[in-house]
Amino acid sequence: MRVFALILGIFFLTGCTVTTPAEPEAPAVDRSAMATDERTAVDAVNGFWRTRFPRVFDQPYRGPRVAGAYTGTNGPRCGGQPSVAFNAYYCRPGDYLAWDEELMAAGYRQIGDAWVYLIIAHEWGHAIQARLEADLVSVAAELQADCLAGAALQGAAQDGVIAIEPGDAEELAQTLAAVADDYPWTDVSDHGNAEQRTDAFNSGVSGGIPACIG
Ligand SMILES: [Zn+2]
Repeated sequence: MRVFALILGIFFLTGCTVTTPAEPEAPAVDRSAMATDERTAVDAVNGFWRTRFPRVFDQPYRGPRVAGAYTGTNGPRCGGQPSVAFNAYYCRPGDYLAWDEELMAAGYRQIGDAWVYLIIAHEWGHAIQARLEADLVSVAAELQADCLAGAALQGAAQDGVIAIEPGDAEELAQTLAAVADDYPWTDVSDHGNAEQRTDAFNSGVSGGIPACIG
């Protein structure tokens, strides 16, 4: 699974340096490369929605805030609740995204950078759901977020911002299966099983936003 960032001009730094403790047993993850992928994913997904959202939903778009990386319980509180280790979330009351850097690193190590893109595009999907009329939000909200993630990443690929390679979906499915239930973010009861998640993601890739709505 490889989603390569092709845009070179957007790697500006935010002035925020992420430091995380070294992993004792697993091979080291290049944290700097991962942080670059996170920024590229944010720019790619936000860029997709900035152009498509007003067109498709006929209303103005303003992106969510990106609180970004945290570790364990030191993330931003949402609705009075502390952050959860190995999770990523969209906080509706605060309209922001945040993710545990160790959740990112776990998938980054197992499969590579596409993991980062999936997580950020999925959480962005929840931000999009929060901007939609209630009747456009699926009761299977997690699978819809996966579908919207597929639509956004495919759209960004069409725009030439990122590249998705053949076989990415299969590798994604394997990853989701491998880590199912390991982390809150991949809890099967919350999110659906790996096959359902991959199918939803692929619907968005092949059918775009309309395939995810209604
Ligand atoms: Zn979700």
